[in-house]
Amino acid sequence: LSPVIAIDGPSASGKGSVAERVATHFGFHYLDSGAIYRLLAYAAAQQAVAWSNADALADIATQMQIKFEHGQAYLNGEQVSHHIRTEEMGKGASEVAVHPAVRTALLQTQRNFRQAPGLVGDGRDIGSVIFPDAGLKIFLTAAVETRAKRRYDQLIQRGDHADYALILADLQQRDLRDSQRAVAPLKQLPDAVLLDTTDINIEQAVNIIIEAFKK
Ligand code: C5P
Repeated sequence: LSPVIAIDGPSASGKGSVAERVATHFGFHYLDSGAIYRLLAYAAAQQAVAWSNADALADIATQMQIKFEHGQAYLNGEQVSHHIRTEEMGKGASEVAVHPAVRTALLQTQRNFRQAPGLVGDGRDIGSVIFPDAGLKIFLTAAVETRAKRRYDQLIQRGDHADYALILADLQQRDLRDSQRAVAPLKQLPDAVLLDTTDINIEQAVNIIIEAFKK
């Protein structure tokens, strides 16, 4: 089996940027599991299926065709990256993600990303549920205010509207939902390395992970 580096942590902790760079460094594949939940939330919205409808969501999850290519996300052949990167779909993702049937339906989809020469996966349960045998597990986090500021800067840079207070409140709510749900709650595993990025930048975080994996 190919090696796996699992990077789990709360929203806007920088997991995506860090995981992608670590993957590039080692020439590994990259699994953005949050994007899969976002794709499902988007697919459901397209079909007017409620984010509370577990059975219908599980059906969509098993039927939807997803693909990631050159950093873009595709749903049933259509490039939908900008549709799923919104705050609305972030919220939708965290709502569809609470259903056990949905998480089960997406299990194999995620495991299929494990291919030679290796994989870097980021999410909430990569090290606990998807790849419990991962060779390196990282819990990447940062103070919620820092994460809110980073998300705010990201939206502004993209030319989107952004409201810091709303983003902060939304992140706090999402942290709560992600950490208190019954299935696969977000938590630091005993065998995970804690990496707090409140006072370090992306390059530093990337280098720490690269060094940790080489050992
Ligand atoms: O990481 P991202 O913000 O794109 O994830 C969106 C939402 O999807 C998270 O707030 C979380 O509720 C859910 N998610 C999850 N398990 C994962 C990845 C994401 O429950 N492995």
